[in-house]
Amino acid sequence: MWLNGTSDLIENLKKKGAKRVALQFPEGLKRQSAAIAASLKDAGFEVILSGDPCYGACDLALDTLTYADVLVHFGHAPVDDQPKVIFEPYRMDFEIAVLENALPFLKEDTVGLVTTVQHVHLIPAMELFLQSKGISCSIAEGGRRTPIRGQVLGCSFTAAKASGADEILFVGTGLFHPIGIALATHARVIALDPLTGSAQEVSGDALMRRRFAVMEKARGAKSIGIIVSTKSGQQRMDLARRLASLSPTAVIVFMREVNPDELLNLGFACYVNTACSRLAYDDQVRFPVPVLSPQEFEILCGVRSWDAYTIDEIA
Ligand code: SF4
Repeated sequence: MWLNGTSDLIENLKKKGAKRVALQFPEGLKRQSAAIAASLKDAGFEVILSGDPCYGACDLALDTLTYADVLVHFGHAPVDDQPKVIFEPYRMDFEIAVLENALPFLKEDTVGLVTTVQHVHLIPAMELFLQSKGISCSIAEGGRRTPIRGQVLGCSFTAAKASGADEILFVGTGLFHPIGIALATHARVIALDPLTGSAQEVSGDALMRRRFAVMEKARGAKSIGIIVSTKSGQQRMDLARRLASLSPTAVIVFMREVNPDELLNLGFACYVNTACSRLAYDDQVRFPVPVLSPQEFEILCGVRSWDAYTIDEIA
């Protein structure tokens, strides 16, 4: 696991004429912040470090720009245009031969190949490996939030959908992305964790069953909070307004951190989440009341059919 050295960054900052620099790291990389801040101070920059939690490029510490010329966000690719932010990649290598473990699960001659941002630099090597085994890869460009070929996010599966493949190989950790890909594409999805070497076929059925149970609990709720995030890359006010218009008891709630205590204090009988789409799917067990996705709320309001159920993505 490594971050790029700071020499390119220093050059980049000098080109921009930056003197005061803010740094933001996601949770898994925060331990590297002190050393990187020290090397930038050595190079003559005034440095401010964002200490708030951060889980993605959707949550930029733009408030630091009141005091800094530039914000350097480590570990993620951009999800929107931010002229005063430099995105510093974080690359995690693995042995390409681990793809051997996925081969027994692959049935097609052509697979869609997708991964997360920390492994996208290995896409060409993964493609070569699969080709050497007689498997062609369809690797598609992503969308606005996923600027790198073959990249997917937990809120954007464009590169998987655009691959057009009936079978998709997701290389990365965790099961949320491959389950999301299965629901977004209806393709057969194989997930390979390149760090543990475990491979498996993944389906969205179990998640769908859990979500239908949550929807049943939400049916007839007397008060509905439509959550809108204040985070830079999660705000979906237009969507929230449209959803709020579907029910006379729905009220838009603007908030930064969506956590169980805040939802309990607000006291709504049900919430609809337009913030990070993973919140409703991953964290429902932590929440005191049902938290629906926008599409689930539309189904309960009768403006979307059950057959049109899909996973929520941020455009
Ligand atoms: S909205 Fe959620 S899934 Fe999308 S980039 Fe942000 S943290 Fe990741």
